[in-house]
Amino acid sequence: MDDLYRDYILDHYKSPRNHGEMEGATHRYHDTNPLCGDEITMLLKVGEGDRIEDVHFIGRGCAISQASASILTEEIKGKTLDEVKAIDRDHVLGNLGITISPARIKCALLSLKSLKGAAWGLTAWPGEEREGAAKG
Ligand code: ZN
Repeated sequence: MDDLYRDYILDHYKSPRNHGEMEGATHRYHDTNPLCGDEITMLLKVGEGDRIEDVHFIGRGCAISQASASILTEEIKGKTLDEVKAIDRDHVLGNLGITISPARIKCALLSLKSLKGAAWGLTAWPGEEREGAAKG
């Protein structure tokens, strides 16, 4: 059973879904996990009704952090921002299907942290499209 889940994580790590820059992103949020050197930027394209039309992530780091982000992007397309804000850490840990040691919890949850940052960005700056500022 554990092997199956490990394969699942490695598959997402080696072939990350929705990975890379995205044109027309309305929200983005970058966060890091300095303990492990993981980095994740979540990019959202939010349309009518606060619905997520597209989502990408950019990142590097350990398999758990990157697989967690990849799995999350597959899940949230078509959801509303409110639905995304309601995702909790247990859900994200459950996605991975293995017991995450305390040392790796921050790896597993970095994707959620970045996603929440991006999702809450809309309410923090209502009506203002953050055009990504085209840097770096
Ligand atoms: Zn990590």
